[in-house]
Amino acid sequence: MIEFKNITKKFGKLTVLDGINLEIPDGQATGIVGPNGSGKTTAIKSLLGLVKPTEGNIYVNEETVSENWQYRDGIGYMPQVARYPENMTVAELFRFIKKIRNGEPSHEDELISYFGLEPELDKAMRTLSGGNCQKVGAVLSMMFNPDLLIFDEPTAGLDPRSSVQFKNKVRELKSEGKTILLTTHIMSEIEELADYLIFIVEGKIKYHGPMQQLLDAHKSQRLEGAVAKMM
Ligand code: ATP
Repeated sequence: MIEFKNITKKFGKLTVLDGINLEIPDGQATGIVGPNGSGKTTAIKSLLGLVKPTEGNIYVNEETVSENWQYRDGIGYMPQVARYPENMTVAELFRFIKKIRNGEPSHEDELISYFGLEPELDKAMRTLSGGNCQKVGAVLSMMFNPDLLIFDEPTAGLDPRSSVQFKNKVRELKSEGKTILLTTHIMSEIEELADYLIFIVEGKIKYHGPMQQLLDAHKSQRLEGAVAKMM
């Protein structure tokens, strides 16, 4: 269980997260939606220990999140914008991550093949296309078989076929009982993948709960319509 308790984050005078209280259920996929700049990435980075909240605490299975929590076993993170060492090849990057994570990945080769990255392995990261960079991020997030996977706009740079592949992988991870946290501006993607929804506007939670409950409350078949009514 992930808990945000009274989380406020300020950057100077700007309040980006404003007293957030949340409980995110285990073993489900939760979608985080909200307008640009509403605080989604900041919430995710706070959960990963990459951003220190100005007030409040975040707990994962009752343990307080601390700095650089993202490197812990059991967590996989695919950032919205990744900054990889640009002169490393893809293969070298995978080797490097295995060294610093100090763990044996469970199905690295299978993931490399699934995302079609074999032809990219000997290329320097700086020469990769945006979409292939995203796929490297996807493999890195999944290769240690984490229980909690956090994807920040994962399909933003992917072509339609790769998006479908990625979504199928998320479905597979869900069926294995993983906890998944996902942000995206593509509402159909949330409808397809998420069971639970968090809607953030200007750093405040407008809704959190089962997605179906929100659709029922707004007598809407589509998430886009329900969300638009709350903005
Ligand atoms: P998007 O949908 O556009 O990705 P988001 O909901 O993920 O947006 P955040 O990236 O969390 O939004 O940003 C929320 C606000 O916090 C924005 O106004 C952003 O400019 C600001 N912000 C984020 N990081 C920093 C930082 N390190 N220093 C100053 N301001 C920041």
